[in-house]
Amino acid sequence: MSKATGQTKNNALWFLDTLSARFPEAKIELNYHKKDPWQLLVAVVLSAQATDKKVNEVTPALFKAFKNVQAFAQATPQAVEPYVHSLGFFRNKSKSIVGAARMIVEQFGGRLPRERALLEQIPGVGAKSAAVIIANAFGEPAIAVDTHVGRVARRLGLTKEKDPSKVEAELTALWPRDRLIEAHHVLIWHGRRICFARKPACSTCPVNGRCPRVGVTTFS
Ligand code: SF4
Repeated sequence: MSKATGQTKNNALWFLDTLSARFPEAKIELNYHKKDPWQLLVAVVLSAQATDKKVNEVTPALFKAFKNVQAFAQATPQAVEPYVHSLGFFRNKSKSIVGAARMIVEQFGGRLPRERALLEQIPGVGAKSAAVIIANAFGEPAIAVDTHVGRVARRLGLTKEKDPSKVEAELTALWPRDRLIEAHHVLIWHGRRICFARKPACSTCPVNGRCPRVGVTTFS
C-alpha cells in the first residue's frame, strides 16, 4: 500500500502534467521495429552500460544479419560479437542475446511472453528490462526504474527509496495506471535533458517552483 500523502500525490500529478507539457514527444529512444518485440529485447539487453545512441548505431546491421529470433537462436554468440563489439560487455551481451533467443524459440514458441515474471527468466532480462519491454512492446502499465528515473523521483520528493523495486512500487502508487508509461518516459527525458546527475539545469527547469531540491549541484 502507498505511504504517499495527499500532498505528495498532488505534487506527483503536477510534476507529471508539467513535464509532459515540456516533453510531449517523450518516448523510448532505442530504435526497433515496432511490430517486433524481440528487437526491443535485443536493444534493451545491449543498452546496459551503453547509451541508446550507441545501441542505435549497431542494431541496423545486427538486425540485417540476423533477421528474426529464430536466426539469433541458430547463431553462436561468437557470430553476434562482431556486430556489437563497440559496446561494453559485448561478449556477455552476445551470449545473453543468443541464450534469450534459444529460450524464446524452445520454450515460448518463438514469441516473447507478455508476463513480466516470465520475461525476467530470460537471459539478460532483469526487472528493469522486463518493465521496459512490457510497457513499450505490449502497452502494459509499468515504470522501469533506471538511474534517471530513480534520481529525478528522489529529487522531486516522490520517494526516498534507493532500491529500484521499492522506487517502482512507490511511483506506481502515485499516478493513475493509464499514465505510468507516460511518467516513465517523461522522467527519463527530464533526467537526460535538464535534471542531470551533476549540475542539473535548475534555473530553466519547468518544475523548479515545487522541487524540494532546486539548486542541487551533486549527484544526490
Ligand atoms: S529544480 Fe533542479 S533538481 Fe529539481 S527537478 Fe528541476 S533540475 Fe532537477
